[in-house]
Amino acid sequence: MNFDQILGHDRQIEILRRALNTDRLAHAYLFHGPDGVGKRLVALALVQATFCIDGQGCGRCTACKKIAHRNHPDIHFLEPDGNSIKIEQIRNLQRELNFRPLEASCKVGLIDHAERMTVGAANALLKTLEEPTGNALLILLTPQPQRLLETIRSRCQPLQFTRHTHARIKDVLEQKLGLAETEAHILAALSDGSFKKAFGKDKELYLEKRRDLLKTLTGLSSGSILPVLEFAEYLASEKADLPDILEIFQAFFRDVLLMLHHQDESRLVNQDLMDRIRQVTRRESTTAVLDKLEALAAANTHLERNVNRQLAMEVLLLRLTADSERHI
Ligand SMILES: [Zn+2]
Repeated sequence: MNFDQILGHDRQIEILRRALNTDRLAHAYLFHGPDGVGKRLVALALVQATFCIDGQGCGRCTACKKIAHRNHPDIHFLEPDGNSIKIEQIRNLQRELNFRPLEASCKVGLIDHAERMTVGAANALLKTLEEPTGNALLILLTPQPQRLLETIRSRCQPLQFTRHTHARIKDVLEQKLGLAETEAHILAALSDGSFKKAFGKDKELYLEKRRDLLKTLTGLSSGSILPVLEFAEYLASEKADLPDILEIFQAFFRDVLLMLHHQDESRLVNQDLMDRIRQVTRRESTTAVLDKLEALAAANTHLERNVNRQLAMEVLLLRLTADSERHI
């Protein structure tokens, strides 16, 4: 994928193009910004433009094809091994970068989730950043630049990437995927500015499964405990999707809150469940909805800390189905 094929990030691409055309590429870049917005695609497009015979990323030459197939001998990818990037990984990368390039004009090291470098790994990398060799380009990618050592950050040229706007994602979903307007609106709202999320595996979850999940959730009542426990068990079994499911619940209660405050209905996420939102709004108070949103935030924190999932879901659902004080 070359620069022209990337959606958005016009300013960042312009900066890189200018550096490339004036032969002023930095030795090291730090691309930072949220996950899934396209940092890695831009990094690969930069490498492609650097290696390509016509300097644009034609997509047809040997270099372009090898980059697309991830088998170019002069690009070295590095990502966390388990939870962290270890010192041996950095040393291996340094060894590779010290060799002369085999086919391209320089060697490239691409470090994904650079914030997960151990202190030892970061200090080892610092040596390369302090004494750059003429034929190596390093690109560090991270959603959390503040977690990197200041000494690393100050030696890289930073480039910030931002989330895509709701309107842009909605537009692309309608035009490229042919989604109907309501579906595109829902998917864009739930993807949180990430094309990766909007186009990826979450599509089915966000469009189809969302409706079923919300119907089950809003159908539960505090009066009968068994269905609550069964739904908690089901949610606990959905380990991989659970963070996204909690986001779906959050978006729903945010919709209820907006409706309670008579906000413009076009701002609501779940445009296809308006009746359901109205129904829940009638029985809830602002305080009760805020408590539910707080319960969802707490459940997220619990999951990150790896507590008992089943128990966390039971506590969550009991709070989500609690009667509003309006009835007390
Ligand atoms: Zn090419």
